[in-house]
Amino acid sequence: MSSPSLVLPEHLSLQHHQTARDKVVSTCRLPAGTVILSVRSLTSMLLPREKGRRCDFCHSLAPQDRGRLQRCTGCASYWYCDAKCQSLHWRTHKKYCKHVNAFCAERQFDQLESHSKLDALLLTYVLAELSARRTETKEGDDLDVLMFVSLLPGPVEGMDAPPTCPLSTSHRPVQTASELFVRCGNNNFSIHSHLTTIAHGVFPLASRLFNHSCVPNAVAKYRIAHAKEAVMEIVALRDIVPGEEICIPYVDPALVETRQQMFRFTYGFACICPSCAAFKRIDTSQPAPDKAGLESLGTSLRKFVFQDPRPDKTRLPSSPVNLETVPVEISPIFRESCLTSLCESFSAFSHDGPFESALEVGLTILAFYVVIYPPNYPQIGIFPSHFPLEPGSFLCPPGMHLLEMAKTAWNAFITMEGAETQLSGLKLLLQVRAFLGLSRQIWAVIGPEGDEGGPLAEIQVLERLLSEQEPP
Ligand SMILES: [Zn+2]
Ligand SMILES: [Zn+2]
Ligand SMILES: [Zn+2]
Repeated sequence: MSSPSLVLPEHLSLQHHQTARDKVVSTCRLPAGTVILSVRSLTSMLLPREKGRRCDFCHSLAPQDRGRLQRCTGCASYWYCDAKCQSLHWRTHKKYCKHVNAFCAERQFDQLESHSKLDALLLTYVLAELSARRTETKEGDDLDVLMFVSLLPGPVEGMDAPPTCPLSTSHRPVQTASELFVRCGNNNFSIHSHLTTIAHGVFPLASRLFNHSCVPNAVAKYRIAHAKEAVMEIVALRDIVPGEEICIPYVDPALVETRQQMFRFTYGFACICPSCAAFKRIDTSQPAPDKAGLESLGTSLRKFVFQDPRPDKTRLPSSPVNLETVPVEISPIFRESCLTSLCESFSAFSHDGPFESALEVGLTILAFYVVIYPPNYPQIGIFPSHFPLEPGSFLCPPGMHLLEMAKTAWNAFITMEGAETQLSGLKLLLQVRAFLGLSRQIWAVIGPEGDEGGPLAEIQVLERLLSEQEPP
């Protein structure tokens, strides 16, 4: 299918790519933190656990001062901030409001696996959106729709479109459900707030423009505001030079064992980047390291990454680590089960103590992130909807991890027993300041995203507490 003509802002241009359809490059220098592009969604859908907590239209949380969300009186299954959000959603919701409860109660829907249920609803929303646009324009599909149907289909061979909810409309999309479905899986982004996924969305322009990288120079963040559809913003993680391709991560780069399968099955390509080449060295046929093995690998990894092993002297590199320099004997620590186990230990120690152990494991996790992720990387990538792995199976993405480290050092400081010396208190305060500074560095690049508050607000609170402890 031919592609609609793309009108890009001056700082971007589309160029030929050897293997992908094409690539988007910067035409000028884009400093770290630049919002490269804002992208509208074609449609978006709250995750089931967010239903009733957030508005089905704008995805805002129920505001404390405005009371609870209001329910659609037609189906009682959709919730809104107020009449404004409800009326904005009605242009598509009216097409399935009457049928959606019966559809979800049907056996053919009920027996689907949970990810297929999400697919079925997302596809229903896409159909409702396309139908609404046909009603509104009457002259065929608009640019967003043309963009979406011109996206390359994912490798979903043999995968039938899930059942969809019947729609009340006289304007049906010209595309079949299957034609649309094969473009949903590989073009489905997870919408997150403070790095937690709250919804899925289809953003055709972002899918059309940005190729994947395991060491991306940009990421997607989302802006959520009352009575507005969630907007995706692509933000530069570091300075991007003229002529450089802008890439975002399609999957979490930390999934070094399974990401190749995801590329193949969900997106239909094989990644041959230096990171994928380097992690081929990991022998996954061997059993993963045991507890003692993991501890000693952690020590070696910290030594490799941080020249100065003292936590308060922690520095983050300003460019990605050259993976060829990672000693091969350390590489087993990059097994996915190791990160999960490190994150579990960190979470347990930072909750129940001892805080010293939390800080040590935490520093190993930080060293892991420094190797795996590019500088300033805040979060996991796009949710691969056709993959059994749960997103967020890693407990704490780097942007949050540094903040958690600062909080842990702070908790260690305020729970110090009288017998402990002034010196250890001072050391802990230096650690709080170091981790807080690094966390602020990342969030200053990422900027505001998701709901109100979040990490930037938490950083401010901790900075205030810290300043009260320090002599003027
Ligand atoms: Zn709303
Ligand atoms: Zn309804
Ligand atoms: Zn790669």
